[in-house]
Amino acid sequence: SRESIAGTMEFSQQLSTTPRSDEERAAVLANPGFGNHFTDHTAVIDWNHTSDGGRWSNARIEAYGPISLDPAASVLHYGQEIFEGLKAYRHADGTVWTFRPEANAERFNASARRLALPELPVEAFVTSLKELVAADRAWVPSGDGEALYLRPFMIATEAFLGVRPAREVSYRLIASPAGNYFGGELKPVSIWLATKYARAGRGGTGEAKCGGNYAASLAAQLEAEENGCQQVLFLDPFNDNAVEELGGMNVFFVMADGTVVTPALNGNILHGITRASVIQLLKDRGLKVEERKFTLDEWRRAAENGQLREVFACGTAAVITPIGLLKTTEGDIASPALPQESLTLSIREQLLGIQTGAVADQHGWLTRL
Ligand code: PMP
Repeated sequence: SRESIAGTMEFSQQLSTTPRSDEERAAVLANPGFGNHFTDHTAVIDWNHTSDGGRWSNARIEAYGPISLDPAASVLHYGQEIFEGLKAYRHADGTVWTFRPEANAERFNASARRLALPELPVEAFVTSLKELVAADRAWVPSGDGEALYLRPFMIATEAFLGVRPAREVSYRLIASPAGNYFGGELKPVSIWLATKYARAGRGGTGEAKCGGNYAASLAAQLEAEENGCQQVLFLDPFNDNAVEELGGMNVFFVMADGTVVTPALNGNILHGITRASVIQLLKDRGLKVEERKFTLDEWRRAAENGQLREVFACGTAAVITPIGLLKTTEGDIASPALPQESLTLSIREQLLGIQTGAVADQHGWLTRL
C-alpha cells in the first residue's frame, strides 16, 4: 500500500463568483432526477509522491467546473481511478446528516490499495463532506426520498505513459441533488442475468469501487435494457454460477423459514454499506442471516418449491428495491407476489427512517454535516 502523510487538512475557500440564483436552484430541486445536476462547489485535495511516501496538500473548496488535465494523465489511459457514493439527508428540523461516512472512507481506502492509489485519512474524507455541504447546504433537497448524492473520487493526474502508479493524484468530491433512483413509486424491478459477461474474477477488482468495473458492466447493462430490465445480475461462472451482485446493488433472498440469505463477501463483490446495515437490522430483529454461496440453481429450485418468499436488491442510490423477476435466456425466475407485510418494505422503511431522522439511530450511524 502507499503510505501517505496527511499534510494540513484545513480547507481553504475560493467560493464561486457565479453560483446559481435561488430561482435556478429551485428549478433543479423541483425535479432533480438522478445524477443530472451538480452543486456550485467541489472539494479538492492534491497528492504528490515524496521520498517518504507521499503527501496530501492544498485542501480546498472551489467553484464547480471542468478539470484541467494533461492529455497524458494516466487516469485517461489506464483507468487508475476509484470512487464512492453516499448521501446527505435533510431532516425535518432542517439539519443535514449523512450515513456511515467512515465506512465509505474505509472502503475508499480499500479500493485505493487495490488500485495502487494513496489512502486518504478517514478524517480528511469526512471533513471534505462537511466542507462541501457547508458551502452547498441549500442544494440538499427536502422532498420524500430525495437527498444530496455525494460522489468522492480519486484520479491519477500525472502525465506519464509508463504503466506504474502515478506520482500525482487528486481527490475530488462533487455533489448532485437526487430524487428516487428508479423513479417514482416503488414497484418490483426486473433484472437481467448476464451470462456472456462477468463483472469480476478471482484476484480481480470486483470488490474495489473503481471506474473500470462499471465500464465493464455497460455492455451487460445494454443487454438488460434491450430485454426490458433495469439492472443486470452477475454470476461467478467459475464457481457453480454463484450469485454475486447487480451492476450497482447487492442482493438478498428471504426464505419461507424466515432465514435471509445474501452472497458472502468472496472478494468479487462490493462490500455494500447498505448490505452491512440491512444484515445488522435483520439480526436486531432476531432473524437468521446467512452470508454464503447461493447459486442460480438454488434460486430456481427455491422459487419452484415455494421456499423463496422475497428477493430484494440494496444500495445507496435506490436503498432497497424488490426484485420481481430474473430474466434469463434459459427461462425466467419469478419471485412470489410481495406479501402485504413484506420484510423488504419493512426493512426499507426502517433504514430510510434512520437515514432521514424519522426512526431512532440506535447504532450511531448518522453524522451531522
Ligand atoms: N454493488 C455495487 C457493484 C455497487 O456499485 C454498489 C453501490 N455502491 C453496491 C453494491 C451497494 O453498495 P452501497 O450499499 O455501499 O451503496
